Formats: sequence, structure tokens, C-alpha cells
Amino acid sequence: MPVILTCHWSRLRCNVCLMKTKWILSSLLLVATVAAFWFLRPTGNVGRLLGFEAHALTGEILAIGSRPPGSEGLDTARALMAKELKSAGWVVVLQEFERDTPVGKVKFANLHARFAREGDPWKKKVKGLLCAHLDSKTFNDRTFLGADDAASACAAVAVIGKLLARDKPEQAEQLELVLFDGEEAFAKDMTTLDGLYGSRHYANQWRGSDDKPGFGILLDMIGHENLSIRIPSDSPKDLAERMFSAAKEEDVAGHFGTAPTPIMDDHLPLNLVGIPTLDIIGDFSRKAWWHTTGDNESIISAESLGISIRVVLRMLDGLLLQ
Ligand SMILES: [Zn+2]
Repeated sequence: MPVILTCHWSRLRCNVCLMKTKWILSSLLLVATVAAFWFLRPTGNVGRLLGFEAHALTGEILAIGSRPPGSEGLDTARALMAKELKSAGWVVVLQEFERDTPVGKVKFANLHARFAREGDPWKKKVKGLLCAHLDSKTFNDRTFLGADDAASACAAVAVIGKLLARDKPEQAEQLELVLFDGEEAFAKDMTTLDGLYGSRHYANQWRGSDDKPGFGILLDMIGHENLSIRIPSDSPKDLAERMFSAAKEEDVAGHFGTAPTPIMDDHLPLNLVGIPTLDIIGDFSRKAWWHTTGDNESIISAESLGISIRVVLRMLDGLLLQ
């Protein structure tokens, strides 16, 4: 807003006007500085904007429909994620394999991606993994979308990857993004043989390797309204402490807690091959929508996604730059 000051009175009066002008300009400068600080700080609007971006991308994944292993829907969703990551400079590779399952032989494909400002990113070591599962649970009698289980987590991984590539390339170069196939069991409940197909196959490639990443962060059900994260009771101590202190620093500690038991999820195969991995997972046991058609876009919250993304970004600041 332009500031127009006119005075046709005495010289004394003009001096008063000049003081007023300086005061108004100083005030405007102060307001602009505070607004810029608020907008640019990670806990402020930038974090919220990332939540909206992830919410929109979750909607794009859900518009495809169900994504059970071996389906056209999963192929389309994987192509969408690959396009998103490639647009930000990530180099995407598919890891295809076939397994016997309770419904016969199924073809699976994990998507993983790395980033390098120059050279081949696959010829360098990375410090960490950021993972989620892209498949939705197979139901033959209904359309199950798996909005928070785990389209929202995949959207968050892509949004984080794009942000790092753009604003923190030195961190992006130290990270591998992984979207697992076949997390869900074909039978009603997961067993040691049915479920985690993609993460078991992926983790096996690191077995005995000297170049293993030093940590993993797995996201699963991190975008539901009234966000309630409960990490497994046996989570790697260092990563759990980092998550809780990041949540505290972001002033969102009330959303994060610990489940009373271990949890079977894609972090297990990674932990077994010596990559300590934290499962940042929603409290699914208390959510009526879990593994029902209620797990649709209506329960996804941009605010919750923003909270989860901010906490992960703060963890990565510490983990990738140390
Ligand atoms: Zn599930």
C-alpha cells in the first residue's frame, strides 16, 4: 500500500510528518521481515505447503483406483511416482521379481531412486533410506484404495524427495528413496511368509554388503486426520529419540508416541540385514477405517501430512549432514 504524506503547513509540522513517515516505513519493514521469517521457516507455511502438495499427490494416486500387486492400477501408480521423481532429477530404477503367494505366482516391482548433481548416483554410497509401500491390500469383493495405507506415505516420500533435490541437493545425494511392492498379505492377516514381499527382496540385496546405508525411515499411515503416530515398541533407540526430539522442535510432540508391542512392517527385513530402520506408522489398531473401504481420501489431512513431513525433514537434517 503506498504511503502518501502531504503537508502544506509550517516547517515544524513538516518535521512531524517526516517522523511519521519514518515510523510508518520502519513499521512496514518490521512487518515484512516478520512475515518473511514466518513464511520461510520450515515449521511455518513452507511445511504447510508441503502438506498440501502431498495431499494433492495422494489424490492423484487414489484417482487411479486400487493398486494390488500385479495389477494395472499398481503399474499406473508406479509410473506416476516415477514421473514425479524424474521431474526433480531423481534417477529411477525398477527392481522386478516374481514370488509364489497364496494366490499363485505374482510379479512384483519395487521402485527405488537416487539423486546426483553429477555422475551415476548408483555408483556411490548413500547414508540412508526413505521408504513406503505403494501396493494396496487385495480385496476381491470391494474397491479398496488404501489412502493412508499407504498412498499418503508414498506421496510424502515424493514430496520430500523433490524438496531435497531442489533445496538441499547435498542431502538428496545421500538418500535412496524406495517404494515397496507387496507389503500387504494376500490372506487376511500378514504372516512371516505372506506379506513384506517387496521389502524382503529389497533387503536381501544388502545382506553381507559393506556399503549398506546406515539407517532407514519407513513411512506408513502418516496422513490421517487427527494424526496419531505410534512407532513399534522395539524401534531402534537412536532413530526413535531423533523422531521424538524432531517432533518436539516442530512443536507437534503430542502426535507422536510408542505402541505397546512390536509391529510387523517393511522395516523388519531391513533391520534383519543390519540397516536400523524406524517405522513411523499411524496407530492403525485404533482406526476404524484400517483395511476397510473407509480408508479413502476423506480421512487424509494436509495438516497431518505437513506435520509428518516436517518431522522427517528435521530428522534428515541431523542424519544426513552429520
Ligand atoms: Zn495395510
